[in-house]
Amino acid sequence: EPESVAYHVIQALRVGGPLDASAFERALNGVVARHESLRTTFSEVGGVAEQVVHEKMPVAIEWLDASTRYRERPFDLQRGPLVRCAMRRVNDAEHEVFLSMHHIVSDEWSVGVFWRELSALYNGESLPPLAVQYVDYALWQREHVKLDAQEAYWKQKLSGAPAALELPTDRPRPATMSHRGALYACELPMAEALQELSRSEGATLFMTLLAAFDVLLARYSGQDDIVIGTPVSNRQSEATEPLIGFFVNTLCLRADMSSNPSFRELLRRVKETALEGYAHQDLPFEKLVEVLKPERSTARSPVFQVMFTLQSATDGGREFARGLTLAGHASLEVQAKFDLVFTVGENQGRLHGIIEYATDLFDRETIARMSAHYEKLLSAIAKNPDEKISKLEMLGVAERQKLVVEWNATKRDYPRDQSIHALFSAQAKKTPDAVAVIFGEQTLSYRALDERSNQLARHLQKRGVGPETLVAICVERSAEMVVSLLAILKAGGAYVPVDPKYPQARIAHIIADSRATIAVTTQALAPLCVGIGALLTLDTLGGEIAKEATSALATRVDPKQLAYIIYTSGSTGGPKGVAIEHRNAVTLIHWAREEFSDEELSGVLAATSICFDLSVFELFVPLAWGGTVIVAENALSLGQLPARDRVKLVNTVPSAMTQLEATGAIPESVCAINLAGEALSDQLVQKLYGHEHIRRVRDLYGPSEDTTYSTAAVRKKGSDSLVTIGRPIANTAVYLLSPELELVPQGASGEIYIGGQGLARGYLHRAELTAEKFIEHPVYGRLYRTGDLGRWLASGELQYLGRRDNQVKVRGFRIELGEIEAALHKRVKEAAVIVHGEGSDKQLVGYY
Ligand code: AMP
Ligand code: MG
Repeated sequence: EPESVAYHVIQALRVGGPLDASAFERALNGVVARHESLRTTFSEVGGVAEQVVHEKMPVAIEWLDASTRYRERPFDLQRGPLVRCAMRRVNDAEHEVFLSMHHIVSDEWSVGVFWRELSALYNGESLPPLAVQYVDYALWQREHVKLDAQEAYWKQKLSGAPAALELPTDRPRPATMSHRGALYACELPMAEALQELSRSEGATLFMTLLAAFDVLLARYSGQDDIVIGTPVSNRQSEATEPLIGFFVNTLCLRADMSSNPSFRELLRRVKETALEGYAHQDLPFEKLVEVLKPERSTARSPVFQVMFTLQSATDGGREFARGLTLAGHASLEVQAKFDLVFTVGENQGRLHGIIEYATDLFDRETIARMSAHYEKLLSAIAKNPDEKISKLEMLGVAERQKLVVEWNATKRDYPRDQSIHALFSAQAKKTPDAVAVIFGEQTLSYRALDERSNQLARHLQKRGVGPETLVAICVERSAEMVVSLLAILKAGGAYVPVDPKYPQARIAHIIADSRATIAVTTQALAPLCVGIGALLTLDTLGGEIAKEATSALATRVDPKQLAYIIYTSGSTGGPKGVAIEHRNAVTLIHWAREEFSDEELSGVLAATSICFDLSVFELFVPLAWGGTVIVAENALSLGQLPARDRVKLVNTVPSAMTQLEATGAIPESVCAINLAGEALSDQLVQKLYGHEHIRRVRDLYGPSEDTTYSTAAVRKKGSDSLVTIGRPIANTAVYLLSPELELVPQGASGEIYIGGQGLARGYLHRAELTAEKFIEHPVYGRLYRTGDLGRWLASGELQYLGRRDNQVKVRGFRIELGEIEAALHKRVKEAAVIVHGEGSDKQLVGYY
């Protein structure tokens, strides 16, 4: 991108004192005359760029009037000159000077050379002739530097490095970076102790600060393998020191933070890498990029996106000529060449830093927080360099309080002695004639649903169903399905849903794995229930069941009893059953009462298969609070339902909603939409808000292991709306933790761990897997480890950042790619499965 002003070396200075402008211009041309580089242009000859050194290339000062702001603009590489000097007279005793050179002929060091020579020539001193020019260096480089060996070193060193450092940003990364930037200055603590630590390890202070910076970035990104760029002046030969030209090179220093080393150990690794890097610093970075062939993009710089540098001496307030001073002047726009450039410096025993950041990505507050984290880390390192890097304290007390307590302040005192069906029966007493269920043309009142489920429950008890009996349920979607679910719960049993549309092998696995001994089904579907001894076929037993008493059962179901088992994909072996207790679902039902309006609950579409826990919300929430459940075959049939105009709330996955919206199938009665199960794009949210009757679109996040929903957000209308999964729901806590189970800072990516009353009992018959996924955290208690990544926004809302493993969602189906690979491995040696496509066009593709 040679035309971009990001590749200019620019300085804005203030000259104090009476300036002789024509002498200044003569001196400027004197410098140009000495350096071929400043008289070079670049032309294309036969498709190859070629340098042309001109005998003469006069440069005139551009005068700015008081009102014009200095604006940097691109150079013309073919025509030159590639150095430019603009000046503004402020008054007799003050001038502003803007010096700019294209990076292709210059670097930071060159700027120092430039001012020293300009100053000498302005003062009438003579300068010793230059022994060599840039072309001599270029030729020497071609002939003598063993680029092959250096290439081999870097290739090996960077092999397998992550393509990018994924720092959490305040805004999505634009497709093309604008390179707009800003600066943030900070003071760094513990200079003396850090110097001492460096000395004791035979390292430089720079290496120690770099290692600490690596730790900071690892905490922010969740990556333990990080590549950072650092510039080297690359003037190893004395003859090159007085030259102006592009010598500077960039080293790619890769830090290995795997296996959670102590800081001292990390410092040793960083030192070794840096020393090796310095020994191979001749290979130009551009050449390295050619060799590595990383995917090129205008969205991020190749190989590394963050730079760490040691500050070169400043030009602050020095004498330029007799009676003239030169001082920095900050009226230039900051050019951000990278996502972040952290410059550290030492001045009279004090450490300071300057962070240059891309304002496309970061807000100032975020950078300020990052800087505070770095300071805290440095203090922790100085105190105990032998601490494991994961344990180095980085969070302040207030931040910890916010992450742990304030943003998890979800405590509610719901009744602790209730069961799912008892909530329904209590409601049935209050509104016996209200419509509980609609299926097609059929409706069931609360009274009818209560009585019929009492009858079936009695029958089930006679067949041996009692506390914790697992009852498979394999029926078509119908009003009877709802009756059966309630009946199983009332009898004290737990239901194991089996979807008759599932493949036979899947059904067989669920039945075998759950060890269910009895099934509620129909005659037509009974053959699917292979291996179950007792089959209760609703259609043939109708008469017998109708003889049972309709009154409430005396059975008391303990809230700690199992309510249902939901099977989800397993990464190796087969699917695993999540075991949910009554009290888990009861918390969700009470939360929903607070979260949803009467209107929303008055007509809830129940379109999700009972094999997914969205169905728990769709069925038991409205039935607990007097609403009507409108049972449908699936979400896409909404438009054809006889009772479609009674639907107020639709609860489904984004991929299905995308299709419903696109086909204009959302009835005008719908006032609220719940989307869950997979990442929800703002695009869909805004499309839905385009329908005037849709007043609330919620994003609900949660794994089956935490009873349907764990966090909730009412997403906002408007294009600036933030993509968020919201806050933890009632009696639920979310912690974002590192692999070492430490809190990650606000804004950083961490794994989502969930605690609270929704937590499942565990996986059915899988004690080991349960112990692996439901951990006992020393501070935060029992937590489910989701495998999802997220981060906290400043508002206390969560953002969803994807998975840390190979679990995917395809049209709402939770799939472990490993499960499919394991199936393929029964037939082929090597196999890999990926998800191809986006949204409702996703496909699973297997390779062998
Ligand atoms: P399931 O057990 O079927 O509910 O799947 C849970 C997984 O689905 C979570 O661990 C997430 O990976 C994903 N998921 C659920 N809800 C959301 C959501 N609102 N946004 C993004 N991903 C979600
Ligand atoms: Mg879920």
